[in-house]
Parts: sequence; C-alpha cells; structure tokens
Amino acid sequence: MFYDEVNVTLKAGKGGDGCFSFRRAKYEPKGGPDGGDGGRGGNVYIVGDTNVADLTDFHFKPGWRAKNGEPGRGSDQHGAKGSHLTLKLPVGTIVVDRETGDPIAEVTEHGEEVLLLEGGDGGKGNAQFKSSTNQAPRQFTLGKPGEEGEFRLIIKTIADVGLIGFPNAGKSTLLNMMTNAHPKTGAYPFTTMFPTVGVLEYPDQFERITLADIPGLIEGASKNKGLGHRFLKHVERCKVLLVMIDMQGTDGREPISDYRVLQKELKLYMPGLVRKPVLVCANKMDEPDAPDNLASFRKKVKETVYPISCVSDEGFEELKQALLAEVLEIRRAEREED
Ligand code: GDP
Ligand code: MG
Repeated sequence: MFYDEVNVTLKAGKGGDGCFSFRRAKYEPKGGPDGGDGGRGGNVYIVGDTNVADLTDFHFKPGWRAKNGEPGRGSDQHGAKGSHLTLKLPVGTIVVDRETGDPIAEVTEHGEEVLLLEGGDGGKGNAQFKSSTNQAPRQFTLGKPGEEGEFRLIIKTIADVGLIGFPNAGKSTLLNMMTNAHPKTGAYPFTTMFPTVGVLEYPDQFERITLADIPGLIEGASKNKGLGHRFLKHVERCKVLLVMIDMQGTDGREPISDYRVLQKELKLYMPGLVRKPVLVCANKMDEPDAPDNLASFRKKVKETVYPISCVSDEGFEELKQALLAEVLEIRRAEREED
C-alpha cells in the first residue's frame, strides 16, 4: 500500500525547568545561589529525502515528539538541551495545518531542511537572579512548553518521471520489468488503485531516478470522471512525463487519438504540465498491428517516439537512457537556478 496522505501529531520538546539551589560547602555556610538553567527543548525539523518513498512510517506511528530539555541542577549546572527530532519525508511532501487547512511547509529537494516546531526555552535557575541587592534570590522560572500541532502530510511529487497512459497501455508491466516496484497487472482498467513508485537503476553511471505509475487516467479524468483526477496531483511536479501509448490499439482504439486525449486531459487539468519535457513510448511493439501503427503515429507527433515491448524488452535500454538524460538535464538546470 502506498500512503501519500497521513495525519500526524508533532510536538517539540519542553524546556527544562530552572533550578533553585544554594551552594553548600563545608567552610561556606551561606553559599550563594547556584541553581542552573534548564536546557532548551528539541525542535522538530522536516527534511526531504529521496530514499523515502512514501509515508508508511507515519501511518503506523502518527505521534512524534522531540526530546525535552533537562532541568538545571545545583552547582551551576545547566540542563542539557533536548535533542531535535528530524522527520525524513519524501521529496515533494507538503505539511498542512489541520486546524486551518493552510499549507505551512514543504520539502522540494533532497537534503532541504525546514524548522517546523520550536522547542521551549529552558527556565532560568536562581543563580541568574543574583544581584547586588539580592544576594540570595529565591526566584527561578519553569521551562516553556514546546510548540505542537496536528498536521496532514501530503506527497505532491512522487517521482522524477510520471508515467501516464490509458488503462491497459502496459504501465504496470513496464514498472514491473524496469524497476524494483511490483504492481499488479491485468487486462482490465483500473488495476492500479494507488500510484506505485519504482526506482530505475543505472549501475554503470552511478545514477538512479524514480518512475511513478499514475493510474487510471482516462478521458474526462480532469472533470472528476474515473480515478485519474485523484492522482493527477502527483504529476504536477514530476520533472518529466512519459506518455505510454498502446501501439496495438487494444479495444479498437487508435494510438493517435489516445495520444491526443491524454494531451488534452493534461492541458485542461494544469496548463503548466504541458511545458514539461514529454517522452512518448510506443508499447506492445510485439503485436502484429504495432509496426504499421507506429509508422503512421510517428508522422503525426513531433516528439521522439521510443518503441518498446514489455514482452521482449525491446527498446528498454534506449528509453531508460533517454529518461536519464532528461532528468539529469533538469536537475542540472535546477541547481543552476539556486
Ligand atoms: P496498465 O493499466 O497501463 O497498468 O496496464 P498493465 O501493465 O496492467 O497491462 C495491461 C495488459 O497489457 C496486460 O495484460 C499486460 O500483460 C499487457 N501488456 C503490457 N505490455 C505489453 C507488451 O509490450 N506487449 C503485449 N503484447 N502485451 C503487453
Ligand atoms: Mg496498471
């Protein structure tokens, strides 16, 4: 199961209390105040991590807290700070305040860290209150509570590449064959109920990119028909789109009309999407009608078309390399923007 939305309760650490104490030494019967300060409570941070694929961890454990600061002690000993809590989230996760519904933070790249909740200040020990007029202060303060809140975590981007196509184009099959993900496949629509993310490995180049199957996109998906609209949000921030077309034209469909419908759907849903690099792969090239269909399809589209077959793995290497080249190019451009 792929968890792309979960509720969590997060709490920063409470500050440790200040200490009330007076020095007691053998030859110093009226020693001065020596109560130390309490330590600050730990903060809660979120950090983007490409090694985290989804929010499963938070589904099973929705409550997380940073450590409290230690109280101060006598002999002017300050309490230790509470350690911070850093939650590793999939890149593209946004944090929504459940009370207001407002998005308050997001992590958009690997290693990006955001302070979400601040730990409470430690209290002051009575040593802090010593002055010329108050040699034996009895005041000290308690640690402040840490910030806390109820949040909803939502993954907006799930992968470098978003795989789009009609039901039964072969998306799950491609993911099964090319990546470590193993979605169910079947010759009926909507086999895939949840987006599946797989990792494409390039051991020779020491690279990896992620590929997400965006299931159930059909005509009308952008008007809330079918299941597609629920998943279109995942496509928003993929770097590259891979459009898969069934070249056999199963169920009497024309490859070119499938392609036009998909283009139209994306444009309707979010105009920005069509500015993303789009690669087109022509699947099921092992089927009898596919070669002729490919020839006429190629005449009608301007994008480069990568013919593949998930039965024979024909064309896989070319497609993999083309995807890597596009993703690396965009990663480079994003680095230059920073
Ligand atoms: P999805 O709905 O796009 O995820 O499609 P699936 O991966 O579930 O595949 C739908 C059907 O097409 C399954 O029966 C697959 O076995 C079949 N299929 C997938 N790729 C190929 C291919 O390259 N050639 C042929 N002949 N069939 C394929
Ligand atoms: Mg599928």
